[in-house]
Amino acid sequence: MTTHMEEHRLRDAPLSMEADEFKALGHQLVDQIAELLASVRSRPVTPPNLSSTAIRDVFDLDTTLPEHGTPAGALLTQTARQLFECSLFNAHPRFFGYITAPPAPIGILGDFLASALNANVGIWTLAPAATEIEGQTVRWIAEFIGFPAGDGLLVSGGNAANINCFIAARAAAADWDIRREGVGASRGRQLVAYASKEAHTWIQKAADICGLGTNAIRWIETNADLQMDGAALRRAVDADVAAGHLPFLVAGTAGSVSTGVVDRLDDIAALCREKGIWFHVDGAYGGFVAALPDAAPELRALRGADSIAVDPHKWLYSPLEAGCALVRDADALTRTFAYHPPYYRMDERVVNYVEHGPQNSRGFRALKVWLSLKQVGAAGFRQMIADDMRLARALADFVDEHPELELMTQALSITTFRYVPADLSGRQGDAAVDQYLNELNQKLLDDLQGGGEIFVSNAVVGGRYALRACIVNFHTTASDVEAVPHIVVRQGRTLDLRIRPLGLRRE
Ligand SMILES: *Cc1c(COP(=O)(O)O)cnc(C)c1O
Repeated sequence: MTTHMEEHRLRDAPLSMEADEFKALGHQLVDQIAELLASVRSRPVTPPNLSSTAIRDVFDLDTTLPEHGTPAGALLTQTARQLFECSLFNAHPRFFGYITAPPAPIGILGDFLASALNANVGIWTLAPAATEIEGQTVRWIAEFIGFPAGDGLLVSGGNAANINCFIAARAAAADWDIRREGVGASRGRQLVAYASKEAHTWIQKAADICGLGTNAIRWIETNADLQMDGAALRRAVDADVAAGHLPFLVAGTAGSVSTGVVDRLDDIAALCREKGIWFHVDGAYGGFVAALPDAAPELRALRGADSIAVDPHKWLYSPLEAGCALVRDADALTRTFAYHPPYYRMDERVVNYVEHGPQNSRGFRALKVWLSLKQVGAAGFRQMIADDMRLARALADFVDEHPELELMTQALSITTFRYVPADLSGRQGDAAVDQYLNELNQKLLDDLQGGGEIFVSNAVVGGRYALRACIVNFHTTASDVEAVPHIVVRQGRTLDLRIRPLGLRRE
């Protein structure tokens, strides 16, 4: 009896923690996080004077690996406090940078729960419930945007989702065993892919990783609306076919990262059907907008794609990381990624996600997405996405009304604009003025980001440097948006007084 009891005593493992201690630490941490979330609005978006040196100082990051440990409670509490002092808050209502969303609170808790289970969602047997929940999450995402997905999986983000689809398109297009023989066995025919000049840099990484090289990308000109030019795309495809190359993928963009422009996905779909080319849509940013009843027809045409990348960690407000790759053909992913090594005994009647993408061990990233889809439903997400877009259009109106701001673009939830001092607005076109306005706005961006009142990022539109506000943020309100022009103009005036070159001074 005694020996039996002894066998059940905790092993002396330094990482193990008694249940009571875990509870106490967990409660303390949840309290700290809840207080942070409640106080974000009253904090700067980014703390002032944040530098690499300052951060290394706060966390003592220049020390060598400690030989011995530190008590967990104090460590966690202090680390949380330090992180709160040194972080940019994308949960701040005035965070408008890049395309980075605030975390859904239920997603934060979902990640905590997922890591407690630590399911390895590569193989069904290791993660039965997690695998089935990921399946439903993927089906729901496809259903939300109206895409008839045959298969799909969650990955780390938009890049990974796009690359996953790119590799599947490459495998589908080759009339030789490209997985075994590689691209070198193409008998001189080059696999080529097409995207607009506004496309995201994922496609360069994809072409490089796949051994095609970035020269295999045809960068198609854009029209006046910054959409891929359909006639130029057709000419490029025809020229490649005539040269004996193998066009294998056209990537349309549903919401470009700079300005939110949506390509004519309907026209691209038609051309791809005609030419027998895989039609991929990069919907990392704007794909979810297809769920809105009033979505533009050219955006809804993503439903005709062979594959789509969407990003739950953008417009589904999932905590990082969560991207999603969707493919029409139910076998496309397994034909691309499955191998059957002797050390796996996999049940072929269930999904084993190792066979659907490049990852092997995989986390339960579906849980946070699934929980938020269940918490608010499709209607909840449609409402938040539509509200974000409405606020971005309101911002464009405020900008347009302000005599010292120039509205440059507005699409989906991205508004680009710049500060133009009143006396210079009539002098655009003069090379010195144009150069100064670019420089002024570039420096203004630094001042705005450092100032902590709002966080915007930048775009270059037709060679002109723009400030860029992207609203993928369910905390942002109308008054937050209304404040933006005032803050930009106030900081712009101060900066202009400081840096305007002599030659451009007011008379
Ligand atoms: C954000 C984005 C990507 C990259 O997605 P990550 O989640 O950052 O990997 C690719 N394409 C577009 C259009 C995007 O907006």
